[in-house]
Amino acid sequence: MAANILVVEDESSIQELLKFNLRQAGHSVWQALNVEEARHAIRNELPDLILLDWMLPGKNGIEFAQQLRNDKRTRDIPIIMLTARTEESDKITGLDIGADDYITKPFSPREVLARIKAVLRRRAPQTTEDIIELQGLKLDPSSYRVYGNGAEIELGPTEFRLLHFLMSHQERVYTRTQLLDRVWGDHIVVEERTVDVHIRRLRLALETTGHEQLIQTVRGAGYRCSAS
Ligand code: CA
Repeated sequence: MAANILVVEDESSIQELLKFNLRQAGHSVWQALNVEEARHAIRNELPDLILLDWMLPGKNGIEFAQQLRNDKRTRDIPIIMLTARTEESDKITGLDIGADDYITKPFSPREVLARIKAVLRRRAPQTTEDIIELQGLKLDPSSYRVYGNGAEIELGPTEFRLLHFLMSHQERVYTRTQLLDRVWGDHIVVEERTVDVHIRRLRLALETTGHEQLIQTVRGAGYRCSAS
């Protein structure tokens, strides 16, 4: 399980501790010392998860979390709050504003990794290595292979990521912009037409086993993966 994780934390010792342990676990780490840097970090590319310190200089973590939740582009990013506060009411406030989980300092790196894994599994299944199966179409992230009714289907890396994302978010419609953000990690430089090109290639590959109808066009909205 490898994810892009943005760590927003002003204490450099904690930043380094997290960076070291997250990298050991195979994740990519983006660092920000305050909300302004975090904003800059997500301007072109969205992380899979944000570890967000509650007490930051300037704008605090809670306000930032609220803004992320109110913005259509960022509202689905999983957030785990880090805090030195232990009062129960603060914990409730943290979860109230839409944080997915809450870790109290001091924490053990192992605990952080376990919480991240649980949140990613729930909120960003495309970052896990769980095998997904839908009507005879089977995708195995750990071996990077796709099978249709048992026969291997050859896919390019982008088509694989696209299929993985859509299969792990079945029945949800994604716009081209959202797919660029979530699959390509870039909604500014890459053109929306690129999505259509790769959807076409993906369907063509899936045609060999008759699974192309799982990738549906939703007129005026975007694409979705659905068995019906
Ligand atoms: Ca702090």
